[in-house]
Amino acid sequence: MTDTFNRSISYLRVSVTDRCNLRCRYCMPEGGIERRGHSDILRSEEIIEICSAAVELGITKIRVTGGEPLVRKGITELCAELGKLGVELTLTTNGILLAQYAAALYSAGVSRVNVSLDTLNPDRFRELTRGGELSAVLRGIEAARSAGMSPLKINAVALRGVNDDEFEAFRQLTLDGTTEVRFIELMPIGEGKALWDSSFYTYDNEKLPPRMSVIAPVSHAFCPDCNRLRLTADGKIKPCLHSALELNVRGLHGDNLRSALLDAANAKPERHAGLTSAAPSESKRGMNRIGG
Ligand code: SAM
Ligand code: SF4
Repeated sequence: MTDTFNRSISYLRVSVTDRCNLRCRYCMPEGGIERRGHSDILRSEEIIEICSAAVELGITKIRVTGGEPLVRKGITELCAELGKLGVELTLTTNGILLAQYAAALYSAGVSRVNVSLDTLNPDRFRELTRGGELSAVLRGIEAARSAGMSPLKINAVALRGVNDDEFEAFRQLTLDGTTEVRFIELMPIGEGKALWDSSFYTYDNEKLPPRMSVIAPVSHAFCPDCNRLRLTADGKIKPCLHSALELNVRGLHGDNLRSALLDAANAKPERHAGLTSAAPSESKRGMNRIGG
């Protein structure tokens, strides 16, 4: 059996829960998600076994995500185990619980966090997230900084009519020299499909100042450079964010597990189709059940 991934796959995004403490309008259905049984979600030992096999095959970076990863019970202990795999360990969070967890996560081996924050206006934040408190996220960002997580990356989905007038406010955040702001293009996936025509907005990377950039999966699909696999919270590998293809790895061990991971890597399409409202993502899951 080939013992490493045959393309330069080095990055695994691991969703540790489908649950979330926010319901962002472009990501989470209004009524939240159907509550799933505990047994539908991978146990920590299973996540560690799968990640460990992936590391044997060539993964060098693991990003923990969700749903909201910080709502998972035992998240710090899980991160500590993942940190022992010798990978670069990072986490993506909405920041609501970050003030509580930042120091412990850093001690557990999480070197950096990406905080998703789409508006710096408290009323808009409440409206967009259906009830979230901006001040909690800002406290989380400060805690991450104090814990030593650097550079701190803020991911803001660019949304026409919601935050397209906040460029200057986001730029101010970068003036400390350590904070980076990345605007993300809204993708027509999950809840994003219905909003896409009215809300898609983008920036020109060439014209952005230092420490600001745009992640442009819609304008510039980066499939040829894609080095990622994604593990869902229920134990499926998604070779491509926008394909319907999912391969089960739950319940597999040893050679069978490694072989399924290699199959997933080999199943990565050369590129996915363009993303528009007429031809949206073919993924069967929304971002809340993939993890970004
Ligand atoms: N709850 C965590 C958070 O918000 O950072 C982690 C999971 S969330 C699904 C990961 C990222 O996906 C967030 O930055 C979010 O803004 C982004 N996202 C969700 N739906 C999206 C969409 N339709 N288009 C672009 N980005 C999206
Ligand atoms: Fe939750 Fe993150 Fe989706 Fe917002 S973007 S609903 S915080 S999973």
